[in-house]
Amino acid sequence: MPNAPDLYQLQNVSKVFHLDGVDVQALRGIDLSIREGEFIVLLGASGSGKSTLLNLLGGLDRPSGGMIHYGQKMLSTFDDAQLTRFRREELGFVFQSYNLASSLTAIENVRLATEIVVDPIPAKEALEMVGMLDRMNHFPSQLSGGEQQRVAIARAIAKRPKVLLCDEPTGALDVGTGVRVLSVIQEIHQRIRPTIVIISHNAVIGEIADRVCYMSDGKIIRDESNTQRRLASELQW
Ligand code: ADP
Ligand code: MG
Repeated sequence: MPNAPDLYQLQNVSKVFHLDGVDVQALRGIDLSIREGEFIVLLGASGSGKSTLLNLLGGLDRPSGGMIHYGQKMLSTFDDAQLTRFRREELGFVFQSYNLASSLTAIENVRLATEIVVDPIPAKEALEMVGMLDRMNHFPSQLSGGEQQRVAIARAIAKRPKVLLCDEPTGALDVGTGVRVLSVIQEIHQRIRPTIVIISHNAVIGEIADRVCYMSDGKIIRDESNTQRRLASELQW
């Protein structure tokens, strides 16, 4: 996306958590621009600040210092109601733990998301995109981890989000299943071109991205474009 406009601009963003009288500096002076339609993998060891950064991009939390622009808007000063609206209208989230409602079937889980937006992808179409249409009437407990994650991806993208944020989407999966989930995310990027940020501690996953950022101790220590992008189906770890 070399000519696309910036979607996010972060300037000197910091985050401090106060816990039991101790200050934990989770982010230290992050400068980062993310272009519309870009596919970024953010890598780093456990505790390096990846989830904290993703939560700021997703409006789940606010920075302690610095500025975050989303388009022309100053996301870092949004109040709770503005953040809720922002998440609802602009974002899809995928977490390591799937977070499906256990009492609802696959298609009912996806419909929860399609009901709250103006122009959703129909739930069946979203399930078809992730290869789960034939399992649409099954409950999460009747699905494997990888299948639940594909339903969670269908739910996230059915909103036609501008941004898809994924926190360790393959963290709980074996290699083969993880590769299948990453293939689904890669296909979605091809088909509907959302901006995608995946965070992972697994460096191999960086091979499928346009751009790979490395975090250490609350900072971005490397930021590289990936000239040799691979298909997720070719990955091994
Ligand atoms: P990563 O996702 O890379 O594993 P995190 O962003 O979760 O890292 O955490 C970065 C640092 O911030 C860690 O030291 C972690 O313990 C701390 N941290 C994260 N969330 C909280 C919180 N809610 N309260 C206190 N400390 C936190
Ligand atoms: Mg994390």
